[in-house]
Amino acid sequence: MMKIKAYAAASKEADLKPFELERRDTLDDDVKIDILFCGVCHSDLHQVRNDWKNSVYPVVPGHEIIGKVMEVGKNVSKFKTGDLVGVGCLVDSCHTCSACKDDLEQFCENGATFTYNSKDKHLGGHTFGGYSESIIVDQQFVLKVPENLDAKAAAPLLCAGITTYSPLAHWGVKKGDKVGVIGLGGLGHMGVKFAHAMGAHTVMITTSPSKSEDAKALGADEVLISKDEDQMKKHAGSFDFLLNTIPVGHDMNPYANLLKRDATMVIVGAVEPLDPLHGGSLIMGRKSIAGSLIGGIKETQEMLDFCGEHNVVSDIEMIDIQNINDAYDRLQKSDVKYRFVIDMKSLKES
Ligand code: NAP
Ligand code: ZN
Repeated sequence: MMKIKAYAAASKEADLKPFELERRDTLDDDVKIDILFCGVCHSDLHQVRNDWKNSVYPVVPGHEIIGKVMEVGKNVSKFKTGDLVGVGCLVDSCHTCSACKDDLEQFCENGATFTYNSKDKHLGGHTFGGYSESIIVDQQFVLKVPENLDAKAAAPLLCAGITTYSPLAHWGVKKGDKVGVIGLGGLGHMGVKFAHAMGAHTVMITTSPSKSEDAKALGADEVLISKDEDQMKKHAGSFDFLLNTIPVGHDMNPYANLLKRDATMVIVGAVEPLDPLHGGSLIMGRKSIAGSLIGGIKETQEMLDFCGEHNVVSDIEMIDIQNINDAYDRLQKSDVKYRFVIDMKSLKES
């Protein structure tokens, strides 16, 4: 076993502080990864603050990991020392249930092992994420990162990327569809980039008029300010698909009214009770509301390859790990352009 440096929150009220954790030895199927960059997802903040009531402390967040392979176990043929790789929200699953057999490990019926805050099968206790120097992961959960991508800007693809790519792909968004992405943060900015790259007429739906110019630069054809009732009326009944990244419970009725007949709104943000939805919002027009959770490993690799081909990465603000608590304050205020990424050199050299 090996002791390494990390940053952890000791309780839901606590700031993140330096912490030492143990990683297992590299087993036969394992890849040991030197972490270069780690994105900061709003889920990290939710888990640190125990918003979902299932956090186990200390929490070492981080599931948008980019690094270089340091060592591989003897059964590993897909990766070699020096490869640029990624790790997202998943580090293990049962491999035998119907979800795993369908390449949907995120829905593993026996409980997927998430990168942090999950039961650690090897060491006991719980898993620790990417706000750390290195990580050891079973090869099946390690992703190849296209070498043409800027490594630091590719980090958010591992969660924000797949979480927005997967529903757009699953619900078959295609050229000419009118697609709305609700919330311009880490997920939303990737949603806009993917919808645009898939050829959709893409509308950024935001509470922040100040983000309009950025939304257009990211690929939005139009910007809809959700607080403006006249604008919302103008777009009523016109969307083929909506991707809703709002991180908290909210009134979905105004958004459901934007859907066309037979269209779907997919919720990825609010992992908590949502305000009552008027049945008529769905009944009148045979509309659907659905949910989606990250994506399986096969689809995550497909997404990374798509990004390699289309040169899609995130718009990022680089931070040192020492500034993580300020970054959380800004994330809470929807003030990030559009994903914080931690330069892990700042941890290693501290
Ligand atoms: P983020 O960077 O904070 O962005 C969220 C955006 O939502 C904000 O920038 C803001 O955009 C908008 N917003 C915030 N509060 C709002 C409110 N009360 N009403 C309306 N809009 C609001 O967060 P993120 O990292 O993109 O994550 C978004 C959510 O997805 C989080 O809850 C996260 O935990 C969840 N998540 C889910 C999955 C999954 O697999 N389902 C994966 C990753 C993350 P505007 O200023 O444009 O309005
Ligand atoms: Zn995430």
